[in-house]
Amino acid sequence: MTDLMIRVLGGGGEVGRMAIFVKDANSDRGFLFDYGVNFDENDRPVMPGHVRPRDIAAVFLSHAHLDHCGALPSLYVSSPPPVYATPLTLELADIMFKDAIKLSGYYLPYEDEEIKAVLEHAIPVTYGEDVDVTRDVRASIINAGHVPGSMLTLLEINGARVLFTGDFNLAPSNLLRGADINNVPRDVDVVIMEAHT
Ligand SMILES: [Zn+2]
Repeated sequence: MTDLMIRVLGGGGEVGRMAIFVKDANSDRGFLFDYGVNFDENDRPVMPGHVRPRDIAAVFLSHAHLDHCGALPSLYVSSPPPVYATPLTLELADIMFKDAIKLSGYYLPYEDEEIKAVLEHAIPVTYGEDVDVTRDVRASIINAGHVPGSMLTLLEINGARVLFTGDFNLAPSNLLRGADINNVPRDVDVVIMEAHT
């Protein structure tokens, strides 16, 4: 069995600021699920824990809400990793990043140049797609039913299966069908999911 190392950089015991780093304990580089930002009462950003861009083999962005994506451009200064997301998430994230700069640009550790770099390293994916991320790592992309473009990611790292949900919704809404939860295998090893109390 593969030994996994999971670092909760944000979103543990709090709502938002989601950022989870997962890696095979024997590999140099790992995988980042979301990199969100919260804002305090003075509109100042509260960033997730740091991870070195050169330690990231790939990023998976669940959806375009700022508490899941808003810190991502701060990683695109050097050694920018590829970011997998749906085309809709990428389009919306671009708008959200620019909005975050308008809201609290002075305190945010990124500018338009880093936003551009995120989109330049984006790899669009669609629901039902299986992606070979690296030689031993494969990702399956599943509809999350939360907002347009939202996805669950099932990542298989050297045989260990990790499901990252981001925000999801099982019930159909006027806009979206519910999450394609039946496409998630029943024998997942680790589930990292939203749990609001
Ligand atoms: Zn959300």
